[in-house]
Amino acid sequence: MYYDENTTIFLNKRWLKAKEATTGLYQQSFHYGNGVFEGMRSYQTSDGVKVLKAHEHFERLLYSAKKMYINLDYGVDELIEICYQLLEKNNLQNAYIRPLVYTDENMGLQPEGQANLFMCAWKWGKYYDKAAKVMTSPFRRPDPKSCHVDAKVTGHYTNSVIAIEDAKQKGFDEALLLDSHGFVAEATGANFFYQKDNTLFTAPKGNILPGITRKVVMDLAKENGIKVEEKYFTPEEVYDADGAFFTGTAVEINAIESLDEKPFKKDWQDTFGHELHQQFNQYART
Ligand code: PMP
Repeated sequence: MYYDENTTIFLNKRWLKAKEATTGLYQQSFHYGNGVFEGMRSYQTSDGVKVLKAHEHFERLLYSAKKMYINLDYGVDELIEICYQLLEKNNLQNAYIRPLVYTDENMGLQPEGQANLFMCAWKWGKYYDKAAKVMTSPFRRPDPKSCHVDAKVTGHYTNSVIAIEDAKQKGFDEALLLDSHGFVAEATGANFFYQKDNTLFTAPKGNILPGITRKVVMDLAKENGIKVEEKYFTPEEVYDADGAFFTGTAVEINAIESLDEKPFKKDWQDTFGHELHQQFNQYART
C-alpha cells in the first residue's frame, strides 16, 4: 500500500527506490524513540498539486527537532522543494507525505551528530468513512512537564498506540484522551471539537499537539461567523452536546457519532462540523 517497485523516496540528500533503501539497526531513534516527523497532505487543485500548509508543517518539523536536540541540516524552503519533487517523481496528486527525522547510530542517550532525513509519500484517500464511536480513554496524554507535547516526536506515539488499541478492543473506533488534570485533551492522532449553545469548544494549547488542521478550522469558523472558544472541559460536559468532530491531517474533519455511547443531539448534516467540512474541502482544493 505504501510503496511498490516504482516508488521513489528521499533519504539524506539522495533519491532512491523505496525497495532498495536501507537503514541501520543501531540508529538511536529506533531504540529510544527520539525521532521527529510530520504528516502532510497534498490535493489536486485547478493550479496543480498543492501541499496544504507545507510551510507550517516543515516549521513544526524543525521546531520538533530543535526541542529534541536533533540537528537537522535543512531549511523550510529546501524541505518544501524536496516535498514537491517527491510528489512529481511519484506522479502523486492526492497524497499523504511523511517526512521522518531520525538520529544516527548511537547506543547512548544523547542525540549527537547530524540527523537523517527520510521523506516518502503515497496515495491516500479518506482515513475514516463513517462517524466515529469514541470512548474516553483510561490512558492520559503525557504531562507537558514530562515531555514536549507540542512537538511531533515518534516516541510520544506509544501513548496513542495503547489508547487506540484499547478502544478498538472495547468495540470503539477512537479514543479521547484526557490531560494530566482530567480535562479533555485530544484523540490519538487528531484534535477534538464539540458544539454546544451555538459555539464550538476545543482544548487550549498546553496539553495537546496544536494541530495545523485545528488552526485552519478555527480560521474557517471565524470567517463563517461561528464562535470558537478554547477552554478546559470534562467528558461529562460533552455528553449533551449538539455534535462533535476530530480535526487532523490524516482524518481531515471527521464526524463523531457518540462519546462513551452517548450519541450527539443533532444530525451531522445540521452541525457546524458538517458546514466546516464542506468549507475545508473547498479550501484544501483551491
Ligand atoms: N494531535 C495528535 C496527537 C496528532 O498526532 C495529530 C496529527 N498530527 C493532531 C493532533 C492533528 O495535527 P495536524 O492537524 O497538524 O495534523
